[in-house]
Amino acid sequence: RPVVGVFALQGDVREHVSALTSLGVTAVPVRRPGELDDVDGLVIPGGESTTMSKLSIDFGLFDPIAKRIADGMPVYGSCAGMIMLASTVLDGRPDQRSFGAIPMTVRRNAFGRQVDSFEAPVAVAGIEGEPFHAVFIRAPWVESVGDEVTVLGSIERAGVDGAVAPHIVAVRHGAALATSFHPELTGDLRLHELFVGMVREAA
Ligand code: GLN
Repeated sequence: RPVVGVFALQGDVREHVSALTSLGVTAVPVRRPGELDDVDGLVIPGGESTTMSKLSIDFGLFDPIAKRIADGMPVYGSCAGMIMLASTVLDGRPDQRSFGAIPMTVRRNAFGRQVDSFEAPVAVAGIEGEPFHAVFIRAPWVESVGDEVTVLGSIERAGVDGAVAPHIVAVRHGAALATSFHPELTGDLRLHELFVGMVREAA
């Protein structure tokens, strides 16, 4: 232990499993509600949040995950996973659902079409050393946060509206962690390490 699950109905599951495995924890894909019973924490990968929403409902995973989160299970979401953890999603599909683990409003595809994907350094509060080499792929930003949410990182960058402004891209709320970017794609394990620490603490 700990055993960390990776939501595996859609997204870059393998990259998260390998990051977690490198840190010496047992990482297991979660596709069925029963598989959730054995995990001490859950990662929701990057991918496509509308598809994750739909598949998690179709496969009966949505409510069990929401319940575990409400009971305090640590969760980490990258990109689409961040969207899945939000309480409010802007520019989503009308039927799109999210777990509401973090009281925040996120905007999908917020950095605009001309910059669908980009890389930028992001300093994350509480993580030592170099800023993250952060990879953003049709990424969301956090448009606003509730009172108890800790902002861990922001970038100054033009959004869909064309205006350059600081935008929140990493947050923590209790046992929930979310980033707009994909540390699982760059081999930088520091965010996974932070998350595994959160899982150990909760276990
Ligand atoms: N744009 C995607 C969504 O809305 C997220 C992209 C990603 O995870 N790289 O779900």
